[in-house]
Amino acid sequence: MRLGRRQGTLDTISGPAALTDEQRVPDTRVTTMQLFNRAPASPTAPVKPGVRALLADAQPDGSVRCNACAHRCLVRSGRTGICGVRVNTAGELWSLAYGAVAAAALDPIEKKPLFHVDPGSTAYSISTLGCPFHCVFCQNWEIAQGPRLGLDIPLRPMSPEQVVAEARRSGARSIACTYVEPTVFLEYALDIGELARAAGLRMLFITDGYATPEAVGLLGGVLDAANVDLKSFDDAFYRKLCGARLAPVLEAIEAYRRAGVWLEITTLIIPGANDDEAQLRDLAGWIVERLGPGTPWHISRFHPDYRMRDVVATPAATLLRAAEIGREAGLHHVYVGNAPALGLEDTRCPGCSRVLVERNGYQVRSHLAAAGACPGCGRLLEGLFTGVPT
Ligand code: SF4
Repeated sequence: MRLGRRQGTLDTISGPAALTDEQRVPDTRVTTMQLFNRAPASPTAPVKPGVRALLADAQPDGSVRCNACAHRCLVRSGRTGICGVRVNTAGELWSLAYGAVAAAALDPIEKKPLFHVDPGSTAYSISTLGCPFHCVFCQNWEIAQGPRLGLDIPLRPMSPEQVVAEARRSGARSIACTYVEPTVFLEYALDIGELARAAGLRMLFITDGYATPEAVGLLGGVLDAANVDLKSFDDAFYRKLCGARLAPVLEAIEAYRRAGVWLEITTLIIPGANDDEAQLRDLAGWIVERLGPGTPWHISRFHPDYRMRDVVATPAATLLRAAEIGREAGLHHVYVGNAPALGLEDTRCPGCSRVLVERNGYQVRSHLAAAGACPGCGRLLEGLFTGVPT
């Protein structure tokens, strides 16, 4: 299991080597909290299903159409969908992921990354197993592909009430459904989200954007913010490297925006795969046109992982050029992640260029005035700000 500090990855995937409360890192407010029990059976084994799935259409032949994500799997009796955690049991679709937590950690919100949501705060982050994507460069592939690969991943049963209680106990200001595509645990996320709202916590998704419009319709009622991976602007990239398609991602991003969810976009730049300048220009232009120039765009440095270990890490020059392309397209906030030496993670006021939030790794110093205002020109920074973090 991996120890890492990169955006979007787990600091520690739970298991025998996981850290305990006493091993928290004191200076960065990053902690990893849970030591999970080993599950008695693989989630793909015929274990007792969690809850009946939403957005499921039973078919006359006993199969069920799952409409949670854009794959819209036709799941035969006794089988799971592509994500491996939604199973057809006797003509009904059930979620195996409900309440079965594969990873939980207290992360800086900058790690999600959501730079325009309460900077300097922490997000209690959880994940189940399973993912509709099969990205060959996945950084969390053990839990994302665990059901498909038959891996025996330790799980911890947690009710939505327990998740919210842990989040409150940890001092988090938000709960993030992350590490794998959270649409696969839609029902669990919805229940957590309702309780989070009642507890005064924000609800966040870190997502590949594959939710259907129906799923976004449900999630819009509980989600405050989402960071959506827009991995490429090329459908062939999605098909070949992720087992998915581009168009549903673009549709979902716009649906989240219409639902009033604060959005930030992340693009992992992989040398030779999605670093074409014309394509990056189109992608950045699409963000400006469809979401607005105030939408943060996080360019992220690729590191070799999973089944893409033969590609080098993204060169600094490529990242700098991508950032330049984003700014040329009109984006006000272009950040470069996983490359701290470049120093491109500060937030500046789009009105007067004053530095509003300084970031050095996960050390954050905010100069924002109340409600996210620039103390220089008074312009309101776009995002969600409950106050000045301590
Ligand atoms: S969530 Fe997506 S991948 Fe999983 S069963 Fe439903 S449609 Fe298939």
